[in-house]
Formats: sequence, C-alpha cells, structure tokens
Amino acid sequence: MQTKVVLDNKIPYGNGILVNFENKKNWLEVAVTPEALNAPESLWFCFRLKFKNKPKTQNKLRLIVKYFYNSLGGLPAEKINPVTREAKGNWQRLRDGKTVPLPDGRTDAVWETEIIADSMDFAFCFTYGVKEIDGLVKESKGYFKKDIIGVSPEGRDLIRISNNYGDENTKLPGLFLVARQHSGETSGSWALHGFLERLAANNSQNMTVWCLPLTNIDGIEKGYYGKDNFPIDINRAWGVPPMRYENLVFQRDIERWAGRCRPMLAMDFHSPGGSESDGVYCFLPKNSKGTADRMSLEWSVKFEKSLPVRFTAGEFGKVANYASRWDEPCLSYYKFMQKFYKIPSLSFEFPYSRSRQKILEINDYLTIGAAMADAVLKTLKPEKKKSS
Ligand SMILES: [Zn+2]
Repeated sequence: MQTKVVLDNKIPYGNGILVNFENKKNWLEVAVTPEALNAPESLWFCFRLKFKNKPKTQNKLRLIVKYFYNSLGGLPAEKINPVTREAKGNWQRLRDGKTVPLPDGRTDAVWETEIIADSMDFAFCFTYGVKEIDGLVKESKGYFKKDIIGVSPEGRDLIRISNNYGDENTKLPGLFLVARQHSGETSGSWALHGFLERLAANNSQNMTVWCLPLTNIDGIEKGYYGKDNFPIDINRAWGVPPMRYENLVFQRDIERWAGRCRPMLAMDFHSPGGSESDGVYCFLPKNSKGTADRMSLEWSVKFEKSLPVRFTAGEFGKVANYASRWDEPCLSYYKFMQKFYKIPSLSFEFPYSRSRQKILEINDYLTIGAAMADAVLKTLKPEKKKSS
C-alpha cells in the first residue's frame, strides 16, 4: 500500500500548498510551497502534513520547498532551519537545508527529517500569537494588563498590554513597544516575549511600558507573511493622517500614552530576510545629514553591549538603505516616533534561524530579549521610596 499525503493549511497561522508527493522505498518525498497570499513576496509557511496508510518502515521525509527563490531572502536553505513537531507537540528545529539546482537554473530548498508521527506540523519559525500573549499576561501575576484599543478591519481585537496606565501628573519615563507589523515575523515576537518577561520578573514600576504585540492581527491569524502586504504595509502607513485603520488606532493609543508619561524610548521588533544569520541588529532613524540620529545611536550601543557577542551582528546599529516599495511620507513606526515624539527610536531585527553559527531556540530569543530589558532597567534611576 502507498502512503497518501494531505496538507492541512487551516491550522492556526496556516500557509502552504501541497505541490506533489512521491512514495520511495523507505522514505517519502513531499513538495510544498509557501503562499504569497496578499503580499508581493513570500516567506512564511505553516502547515500540517498527514500521512495516511504509511507503512512503519517508511520513516524518512524529504521535504522539498518549491519556488522558495520567490521569497524574501529564503535562500540559501543551508542557512535556514525551519521547525517541526508532532501535531500539538513541541517545536524542534530541522537540520540545515540544501539548495538543490534544477536544470533550468531554478532551485529547490530541501530539508530531510524523520517521520515521527502520522500528523506533523512544519513552520518557517516558531509560531507565536494571542495564546502566548495571554500566557505572558497571566504569568506576570498582575504586572501586565491587557486592554483592547480597537478592532481590526476584519473584526479582530487590537490589543495593548501595559504595566501601568501612567498618570497625567506624575509622569514616569515611558517606553512604547510594537511587534508583528509584518505578521510572519515571529522571531521578533519571541525576543519581545523575553523582554516583557524580564520587566515582569523585576516588577519594575518606575516606568510606563505600553506594548502593541500583535499589530497586524488579521495577517497573523490568516497566515500572511505580511511584509509589504496590500493595501499598504502597516510599517509604511504611519503618516499623518495614517494610511491604514490599524495605524490610526495605534497612533491614538500612542497619544494617550504620551499624555501619561515622559516618552523615553520607542522600540519595534522584527525579523530580517529569511536566511540572514549575522545576528541581531537594528535600524536607526536618520538625522538631517543622513547619518544615524544621535540619541537612537546611543541606545543602540547600550543594547549591543547588553547582548552576548554570539547574538550580535558585526554592524549593530545602522541606517536603512535597502529599496523600499513605499516612499515617504509613508513612515515606518520608528521614524514616526522619532519625528513626532522626538525620542530615540530603534527597529530591531532578530534572525529566524541562526545567529552566526548558533541555531536559535526559543530560549535564545528569550535570553536576547531579557538582556535588552536589562539594558533599559539599568539606565533608569532607582525607584524613590514613597514617604508615608
Ligand atoms: Zn519586519
């Protein structure tokens, strides 16, 4: 009997199409491809493969990701380690991939692994969504609160978490954090998770931290990659007035925050091109001379120093000079915060698979985020004891 393979892309954050499968003697060859959906470039995938009537001896899988050269930096496969799990188990990294040339110049991205169950999930990187945020808020034991600040164009909650609501009179230093403007960038989320966990563990009350952890929530839930997606990238819609409804909701929340604290720092958590593996780095807003804004650069130096060298890129704080599909005034978040709130503002990139030679596990992202939170905590003056 031959094994039949079915791809299920209706699982949470699902994205992927079955192209073909072939039964070999002791192994299965399954060809899939990520869906671009509403984006001009693909990358994110997340799907379940079901193996029906599989003989026990057929226990190896050759997963061929077709057309991956149409993704944002998804090659070479040698630098990428997607994740897999037994359905609902714990994610594990795949071994290094292979970029296999085809006769006409195209390539396949290929990963080999063991078949550990009749139903296995595969994703470009560790998934992250509402469940993890709810877990974080719960684990923080009251340190973080979750509020709904609006509803997305497709009716999903736009959430903000905060450690306090600030105060119009007693203004503490304020931190405003965002993530997932590009919905598939889950490694940014895991670093943010470590950052927020560290603040909660410190129970720090001498600042006002507001965070929009799942900004492109419609894209997240639907498995969109989300970079440069239509009608316009959320991270290019920060003009005044904004070009997307989500940005309007966010801008009004930032206004509320700014009235209740002394805005100190803005941070944005992203993931870079699919195979980038130099380590963590950040983009800084430009000054009038086209070089990095001084205050933002100072913060980038603090963050760089806080991180172990194995996690940092050779050039840590830099000015973006890549081609953009959207020209200004379609501002990015970090430029918006620097322009309108005059505060240091940094946009971080956390690699999907590895930093230098180190394959990144969830714990590594948490370590990175925690170290960055320490850099913030260190710069704040010790809390004053309230006199009674
Ligand atoms: Zn991004």
